Amino acid sequence: MSENFSLPDLSWPVAIPFWKSCQEENIKFQYCPKCDAWQWYPLFECAECGGEFEWREVTGRAFLFSWTTVYKAFLPGFEDKIPLIVAVAEVEGAPGVRFISNIINAKPEDLKVGMELKIVYEKVDEEHTMPRFEIVK
Ligand SMILES: [Zn+2]
Repeated sequence: MSENFSLPDLSWPVAIPFWKSCQEENIKFQYCPKCDAWQWYPLFECAECGGEFEWREVTGRAFLFSWTTVYKAFLPGFEDKIPLIVAVAEVEGAPGVRFISNIINAKPEDLKVGMELKIVYEKVDEEHTMPRFEIVK
């Protein structure tokens, strides 16, 4: 078990398929076939119809919706990540899904609303593979 408290708890049952898909570098999101609707963050059942979700692959492309840049490490473990770009991106093929992660290959001045991003995978430790964004140059 990692001692880095900034990492997610992988044992939360509803999100286990999500973290497994990240480990396999093939990110998946929940989809309700009855409502024809995607869901992020993970839920036990569809909030609209109570139905069961499927986990579906997406392309790995996303488009920058918004972002903020963090210049001060408020928590231990983030000192070497400053400035940290926290982005919200719309996931291609999953309408309605806006996913939040860090952009790891860009400076704040490189960013433009709507620009193409690619979901990449950072293996943090043996258990945790975190999805991040890179800008597509
Ligand atoms: Zn539904």
